[in-house]
Amino acid sequence: PPLIECQNLTRSYTLGTQRMLSRSAERPTVTALDTISISIDRGEVVGLSGPSGSGKSTLLHLIAGLDTPTSGTVTFDGTDLKTLSGRRRTKHRLENVGIVFQHFHLLDALSARGNVALPLVELGIKKRDRRVRAKELLEAVGLGDRITHKPAQLSGGEQQRVAIARALVTNPRLVIADEPTGELDTETGAQVLDRFKSVAEDTAIVLATHDPETLAIADRVISLRDGKLVADTSKSADISES
Ligand code: ADP
Ligand code: ADP
Repeated sequence: PPLIECQNLTRSYTLGTQRMLSRSAERPTVTALDTISISIDRGEVVGLSGPSGSGKSTLLHLIAGLDTPTSGTVTFDGTDLKTLSGRRRTKHRLENVGIVFQHFHLLDALSARGNVALPLVELGIKKRDRRVRAKELLEAVGLGDRITHKPAQLSGGEQQRVAIARALVTNPRLVIADEPTGELDTETGAQVLDRFKSVAEDTAIVLATHDPETLAIADRVISLRDGKLVADTSKSADISES
């Protein structure tokens, strides 16, 4: 099976609180994603583009198993995520998915190495092994001389690279990134993307972004508009469809 397969994925949000609307027949809903079907193979670098509010974050969260669809299915290497219990889904995410959040979500109290090692703590890896592995990843993103620095002592670009190292430390099969260069200048952004791509050679990467430079590293670009898939373009084959 493909690494990720999304079939007829729909996610709607019901607006308003239960109490406020419990007596009304119709509760307003917004369809953030509307019947999306895509599959993603191992090693593919996929850019996800579209205007603000088009459903990019919603799709990333569903693919990562952080959210569940209103209807439709997401399968990971043949396993329907819906069939996993909450606990197993968390385990799947920890083992197989690396996530780079837009605002990094680094812990201020921990060093760069401590932040990068965090997913390994949750997986029960021994301390000595965690430290070795976290250092390796920091070196791979060019931060070998920053391992004991706290986030506050690092520049925005360095923090971003710590977040990327953390997302890759478990050697995940899928990496999800929401605007991974959102707060970086062009040059730092380009450096971060190069590192990202080279460190994650065998891993599928899905990047949601408005940034043309970020989309340029993708093998394939999927475009959303109003929750619908409007284009899926592979660069090598140069095929586009709607
Ligand atoms: P993008 O990442 O492309 O900006 P989102 O996936 O964040 O788009 O949002 C898609 C649509 O879903 C938007 O209309 C947004 O307002 C709506 N939406 C997203 N999250 C929620 C939520 N938690 N509750 C209600 N509406 C939401
Ligand atoms: P924002 O751009 O709104 O700050 P992020 O891209 O940083 O959002 O995070 C995306 C979403 O993921 C947010 O809704 C946030 O609540 C959620 N989130 C952040 N960190 C985690 C986490 N460690 N585990 C699960 N969900 C998280």
